[in-house]
Amino acid sequence: MNTGTPFKRKQAICQTALFICLFMIFHDSSHAAQWYVLKTKYFNLKYKNQTDLKKLSDKLEIADHSNNFSDFFKSDASEKGVEKILASKLDALVYKVQLILDMRKPIKITAKIFPDQAALDNEYYRIYKTRKTMRAWYIFEFNTIYMNAQDLFPGILAHECAHAIIDHYLEIRPPRAAAEILARYVHAHLDKQAKTY
Ligand SMILES: [Zn+2]
Repeated sequence: MNTGTPFKRKQAICQTALFICLFMIFHDSSHAAQWYVLKTKYFNLKYKNQTDLKKLSDKLEIADHSNNFSDFFKSDASEKGVEKILASKLDALVYKVQLILDMRKPIKITAKIFPDQAALDNEYYRIYKTRKTMRAWYIFEFNTIYMNAQDLFPGILAHECAHAIIDHYLEIRPPRAAAEILARYVHAHLDKQAKTY
């Protein structure tokens, strides 16, 4: 009678299971570690690499229209570094959206910036389990904006920020149609001076 074989088989199964577990843990943690976070006044911006930050910063050139925007538009990029410049631009954008909506309340929005459309499409599939190509979107439940570093301009981000601000300003979230009308209004009026009522 050979007692060694079943034992060895059990041992091999245990080792394989352990290996799979370790692989999954390592795989998951290494995947999570791919995100870096830039914290600003209004944002926790999650990004994969410095190049995406630079791309995002280049695309977020917002016109200075006397709404007490900070003077970062005139700043020297080499002096401040891309993180600080981008943080100023993002916060100025949120501030402008709040002014347009006249909805000023402390807010912290998470934004995930993906390197390209394919990566953004994959994220959409991961969340919704269906394929769809979107330039950007906002999910209230995660308080997160999803966007693509290669295809972004201030109007798109302002639109998604408007959704975050609108959904958090009121005690009860407004109907989706009303929120969409407001977000489109913000997009269309981003370069104009915010009206006061
Ligand atoms: Zn919208």
